[in-house]
Amino acid sequence: MESIQAIKGMNDILPDQIHWWQRVENTARSILENFGYREIRTPVLEKTELFSRSIGENTDIVEKEMYTFADRKGEWLTLRPEATASIVRAFIQHNLQADPLARKFYSTGPMFRYERPQKGRYRQFHQLDAEVFGVEDPMLDAELMYMLRVFLEQLGLSGVVLHINSLGCPACRAPYRSLLQTFLLQNRATFCSDCQRRLHVNPLRVFDCKVERCQKIIENAPMLLDSICEDCRDHFAAVRSYLDRLQTDYEINPRMVRGLDYYTRTTFEIITDRLGAQNAVGGGGRYDGLMRDLGGPDLSGIGFAIGMERLILLLQQQRSEPQRSPLVFLAILGDQAKQEGFLITQQLRSHGIEAEMDYARHSLKSQMRRADKLAAHYVVILGDEEMAAGAAQLRDMQSKQQSSIPLDGLVPLLKEIIRNGDATAAKN
Ligand code: ATP
Ligand code: MG
Repeated sequence: MESIQAIKGMNDILPDQIHWWQRVENTARSILENFGYREIRTPVLEKTELFSRSIGENTDIVEKEMYTFADRKGEWLTLRPEATASIVRAFIQHNLQADPLARKFYSTGPMFRYERPQKGRYRQFHQLDAEVFGVEDPMLDAELMYMLRVFLEQLGLSGVVLHINSLGCPACRAPYRSLLQTFLLQNRATFCSDCQRRLHVNPLRVFDCKVERCQKIIENAPMLLDSICEDCRDHFAAVRSYLDRLQTDYEINPRMVRGLDYYTRTTFEIITDRLGAQNAVGGGGRYDGLMRDLGGPDLSGIGFAIGMERLILLLQQQRSEPQRSPLVFLAILGDQAKQEGFLITQQLRSHGIEAEMDYARHSLKSQMRRADKLAAHYVVILGDEEMAAGAAQLRDMQSKQQSSIPLDGLVPLLKEIIRNGDATAAKN
């Protein structure tokens, strides 16, 4: 019988990969919590309207990338393509405005977009998401980007650049829209069919087009950054000065518009040149009108989303292999040793040391092979002979040194050895 495969573009994350994920998630958690963010988890399924209203009807996401279906009662539902809209919805629904401590949120989890699967682009992918509500001060914009830098630095990621831009506010965007439209219409015939439509319904989206000939034309387009109003200009200048004070490098990219309509003022992306066409590791920005547009209080918002798969691909390319905590393997020979080894294994684990033992009475040679495969740092060799002598053999798998270690107090002693990182302590 033919076996059933996973859906194209939706990946299993297998145990041999999971340590990358856990490392990124744990690092994110500790840094974000330090910056005052609290975790929120929202459903993966929402009413379609939530996304069409927030992301914008004429965006790629809403037009062609959403997994949308009618449920058994005919209600239109969508698998979330991003997290911001859901978090804003939850904030409004639970009246979190009343809680002065609930301002900064983060979340991680799967997102769904119907795209052509390729390296760094999947149909189910994962994002780390952070959102802050109700702070208009440009200090926060800078703090958010600084936090992102701290996070990526902590992971040891290199070769990424922070691009920033300002998309102004609705007031300064309206006159710019017609200015841009006039320019685009002059070049109408040259654009791809999508852009020919975009230039009527949502001209700013042309900047986000990935077709090369469209990119070429807009190189000469008038720039939104040149026509933002004074307030927006001041805000952007302040963001830049705070970034400078935080020694956070950035490049101004006036052509960056981001793929969602709700953005205002500061937008940013983390760009890499190491993942081919998938050059954005993450991005975000302000969305000062979104809360109100979704029926909530008139609170400003700012946030970002990092693509976990792309981040992990980059870390793997760099081979910044995460440090695993040392593993102790118990090689067991004989029945009495097995009884003792079983207890020691559980005790090691309960003391926070990763431990594994052989339950199947394999030969010492084959047990040592398994220890090698598991990349064990230490092997405790325990046979009936050692039992009689009251001391096991401890082998440091890196230095290949072997020494004897008393069975009495073995667990605390082994803990000490692991902390000091060498087996010589066992001799004393
Ligand atoms: P792109 O321009 O590459 O399509 P995007 O602008 O659509 O990216 P965002 O909506 O800003 O992406 O999402 C934030 C991050 O989520 C991206 O920078 C990327 O790292 C990740 N991401 C987006 N779409 C996908 C996908 N289909 N597969 C994997 N990661 C993705
Ligand atoms: Mg996209």
